Amino acid sequence: MAAQVNETSHPLKQRVLRLNVGDITGAGPGYRQQASLDMPALQVAGDLVLAFLRGPFRLSRTREGVLLQGELLAGLRGECGRCLTPMLAELPLQLEELFTYPVASGVEFGVGEDGMLDLAPLLRAEVLIASANGLVCKTDCRGLCPQCGANLNDTDCGCQLDDVDPRLAALRQLLDEAPATSGPELEP
Ligand SMILES: [Zn+2]
Ligand SMILES: [Zn+2]
Repeated sequence: MAAQVNETSHPLKQRVLRLNVGDITGAGPGYRQQASLDMPALQVAGDLVLAFLRGPFRLSRTREGVLLQGELLAGLRGECGRCLTPMLAELPLQLEELFTYPVASGVEFGVGEDGMLDLAPLLRAEVLIASANGLVCKTDCRGLCPQCGANLNDTDCGCQLDDVDPRLAALRQLLDEAPATSGPELEP
């Protein structure tokens, strides 16, 4: 059963990631087509919006289906995992995936009976892999001071850092500040 794209629930177009490859599945093995993407912001999945998606790809008819190979660049907005600054990451995606045709049971990717190839699930998986280790604004990002929270790329806060684990330091501070009486103080 083909996946239904509920366009009304998405502010951005998702259908653009569905390619009509009917003329490729209709051709013999060895037939290939070059194409490219150059898209502004688009919704790839319910949990993934890309700022852009561009790059060349190739579709080749094989005996098993349609082989997609591409070198795409995906723009992903997020924040630096070290200094928390909002940033736009450019993730290179090397795609090489066989979309079986006709769809065989148990395969992850296939071309639908209607000749449509849905790029979204593959793209979502590749973007998740490419961003699995988090985003970093620059390779030498100095991150945040664990004591005062200053962005060390912008300022030298001058904090004296001892060897205490910052999480333990925070806990110690909480213990120091805890009131003598125990029990929650709830406002009515
Ligand atoms: Zn950073
Ligand atoms: Zn500091």
